[in-house]
Amino acid sequence: MPHPGLRGSPGGGATMEAMDEPLLRVGLELTFVVAVGGMVWAAVRRIRTGLIQVPRCGRCGRPTSRAYPNCTRCGGPRDP
Ligand SMILES: [Zn+2]
Repeated sequence: MPHPGLRGSPGGGATMEAMDEPLLRVGLELTFVVAVGGMVWAAVRRIRTGLIQVPRCGRCGRPTSRAYPNCTRCGGPRDP
């Protein structure tokens, strides 16, 4: 995972003594937000790909929409 917030430090010395520098603190906070956001996004992707399955029509077997109780192609009932 890249760390875009730590790239702009002069001299390349990102030590703990420079914590009172406001720019570095903003960069660290930005890195933290990006890391947490990436973790949440990955979890959402995992849930969507793993738990949400495409509903299929019970009559023609083609994938249909969950918004309609019947198949949008043949009008038959969906699989439960
Ligand atoms: Zn159908």
